[in-house]
Amino acid sequence: MTTQQKILHISGTVASFVLLWTLWITDRYIDFLLQKRANERALPRTKRIRFSDELRRRIRRKQNSLCMYCGVTLNRRNMHIDHIYPVEHGGSNNQENLQALCAGCNMRKGVQTDSEFRERYRELLPPVQAGYSPAPPIERIPQSMFFEITSRTRQLESTRARRRAVFKTPRQKINSGSITTGVVVGIVWFFVTAVIFGSGSAAGYISLFGGVIVGLLAAIGIIWRAKYTGRFDEEGE
Ligand SMILES: [Zn+2]
Repeated sequence: MTTQQKILHISGTVASFVLLWTLWITDRYIDFLLQKRANERALPRTKRIRFSDELRRRIRRKQNSLCMYCGVTLNRRNMHIDHIYPVEHGGSNNQENLQALCAGCNMRKGVQTDSEFRERYRELLPPVQAGYSPAPPIERIPQSMFFEITSRTRQLESTRARRRAVFKTPRQKINSGSITTGVVVGIVWFFVTAVIFGSGSAAGYISLFGGVIVGLLAAIGIIWRAKYTGRFDEEGE
């Protein structure tokens, strides 16, 4: 082995470590981002309980027997008790977290939170304001108006569903993605530096820096993916 080859080899090894270290740091950073996100949606699923007739009556009376979202008159048959903040996200079974909805509105809401629902149907519903307890609409809003918005925003929903499937176990995917990227780039590096440019030349060093840049771009790509592709932990609607 010539001195030049040795230098090339050592730089290759050092550069590989730099890349793997970069990926490791990236991974830690993603961990941090995921943890932050998880903290925002902190609580585990709450157990559903059966509500007493007395509680159901009290909630219905508070809303003048009207559905909180569409204002339809509620009766025993079409009234659902909805968790304003869903049990899926740790919403409580206390009365302050409960509202009466008609069956249609309740189905439409699914596991969305009240504020997510109001945001999506903001053309029809006022946002919740601090200090005011929400009230059913004064005039009844026909389901067809809700349906129109649902179908208009469906494209977005299906995109989100696909994204959720892709990021179902985001942690593992990102981990394996980082490791695979690191290993692949490392192997490519090894061959490029040790075999093709093994005799030691400017091209060898250029390839090393090229490798570092590729590694960094991969790392940036992974961070970008983690940061901007949305809600990893979200369950189906
Ligand atoms: Zn309704």
